[in-house]
Amino acid sequence: MEDSSSSPSRSIPGRSPRALFLDRDGTLIEHVPYLHDPAGVVLLPGVREALLRAKEASIQLFLFTNQSGVGRGLFALADVEAVNGRMLDLLGLGSNLFTAICIAPECPDEPSAYRKPSPRFIKETLALHGIDRDAAWMLGDSAVDWEAGRNAGIHVAAIVPDPSAAKDLAVRTRLGVSAYSSVREALGVILSSDSPG
Ligand SMILES: [Mg+2]
Repeated sequence: MEDSSSSPSRSIPGRSPRALFLDRDGTLIEHVPYLHDPAGVVLLPGVREALLRAKEASIQLFLFTNQSGVGRGLFALADVEAVNGRMLDLLGLGSNLFTAICIAPECPDEPSAYRKPSPRFIKETLALHGIDRDAAWMLGDSAVDWEAGRNAGIHVAAIVPDPSAAKDLAVRTRLGVSAYSSVREALGVILSSDSPG
């Protein structure tokens, strides 16, 4: 986990800062299995606009990504960081856009330190930055994202291209997770409501 915190968000006295925990692959950028080439980074539609709105609303952003390709020996942590760097370049919202980044490199069958659905990164981050659970959301396209958010006791929004599609519907229903077609759509709901899901 790295912490690039340099500009604490403005906060209203007595009110918790707000936070978004964002999955990377399939949520912010196109999902490419075991992506490790920065040239393969493609932003998903509306993501830049959504993160700019979040930033302007003083919502702290945290990147939370499982990268088992590292644990499997397919690529190095430095490759993941290069992909993250390319994503930040394409976003053009500053190199410190994310207050902190958690890259979980474990394989699914290894003991998990931070790998989603572990809520450890979320819980540690909330404690470190004094953020209430009710002021935080996990946004992601996979069941492990939603489970990590639920395990941490924060709000969860599923980012799925077609919310009416059956894929993962049973999991979403079990977890009580609302689905949105994009980060932009989810953020619109988050900004207009204190409790989207
Ligand atoms: Mg994903």
